[in-house]
Amino acid sequence: MLRALLLALAKSSRLRRLITSHGATRRMARRFVPGEELPPAIEAARVCNKAGMTVSLDHLGENVVTREDAERARASYTEALDQIAAQGIEGNVSLKLTHLGLDLGGEFCAEQLRIVTRRAEELGNFVRVDMEGSAYTDRTLRMVKQARAESAAVGTVIQAYLFRSEEDIRDLLGIGCRIRLVKGAYKEPSRIAFRRKKDVDANFIKLMKILLPSGTYHALATHDPKMIEAAIRFAAEQNITKDKFEFQMLYGIRTDLQSRLVRQGYRVRVYIPFGKDWFPYLMRRLAERPANLVFFARNLFRGAGPSA
Ligand SMILES: Cc1cc2nc3c(=O)[nH]c(=O)nc-3n(C[C@H](O)[C@H](O)[C@H](O)COP(=O)(O)OP(=O)(O)OC[C@H]3O[C@@H](n4cnc5c(N)ncnc54)[C@H](O)[C@@H]3O)c2cc1C
Repeated sequence: MLRALLLALAKSSRLRRLITSHGATRRMARRFVPGEELPPAIEAARVCNKAGMTVSLDHLGENVVTREDAERARASYTEALDQIAAQGIEGNVSLKLTHLGLDLGGEFCAEQLRIVTRRAEELGNFVRVDMEGSAYTDRTLRMVKQARAESAAVGTVIQAYLFRSEEDIRDLLGIGCRIRLVKGAYKEPSRIAFRRKKDVDANFIKLMKILLPSGTYHALATHDPKMIEAAIRFAAEQNITKDKFEFQMLYGIRTDLQSRLVRQGYRVRVYIPFGKDWFPYLMRRLAERPANLVFFARNLFRGAGPSA
């Protein structure tokens, strides 16, 4: 119930204005989003690299309504790729197609993606296309397949909560596409998605077992120790070595687990979001773990000081 409410509130522009205009809430959001511009994200990336982890930089933004905004987003991604190379960061980028104008037309968006992917390829880097709500699944997969036909420097994300995901994985494996497997962060109807955690978890493990032996380099993006343990056990049984896949986690979440995996010799990539449009991202993180709301509320009252 609370998860559904938080995901619905993520779409409220009034709440967005309220939350993002306050210094206290902006400071608290730093736990999940290191900054609103690229330099603090690069700094956070450097810290992760020093701790033995690679990164993926995500310039936050989705559902832009003008072509100018989409082009600005595209330019921010080529800039991020340039800075990653110039500053010797071990990392790539993650982006959302609705940030590159998917709502404004397929051809237009495909061209923006092509420009970013080409730059990544020139720099020997990689672009991960995030997966958004189910209204975009078909279009995202179509566009990724088209981009993948032109360049190997692009991959995408599959959500274990969708019934269709096994079929999508088999389709993407057919073209050697790198996949990040996640549980899924959006509010989806029971007609198309598993609703119970135990069913989503079972499907995550089933899909992980298809991905890891496939011979392509994939990522398992989860903070769930049970999913991670299942993957480690399966990889050991199948003689899949630690350099053949990676774990991914979000900036600021389960940093203890991130470090432990690095110490055990596993590859870990930290997803680092940055940018002014952090409200929907923050709401999805709160929805995943409503206990984070307590952290927010406690700090809000503490930050409000004695006059509150
Ligand atoms: C690198 C990365 C990229 C992602 N990209 C996408 C994408 O493109 N599309 C998409 O739909 N989803 C994406 N997600 C989000 C994903 O779908 C899940 O919503 C999210 O990862 C929470 O699920 P979980 O696997 O961590 O397991 P859960 O079962 O939700 O949580 C397991 C445990 O992890 C910890 N945990 C999980 N979330 C939080 C949190 N917010 N704060 C504190 N602790 C937490 C808790 O200890 C919890 O008990 C991404 C996630 C990661 C890590």
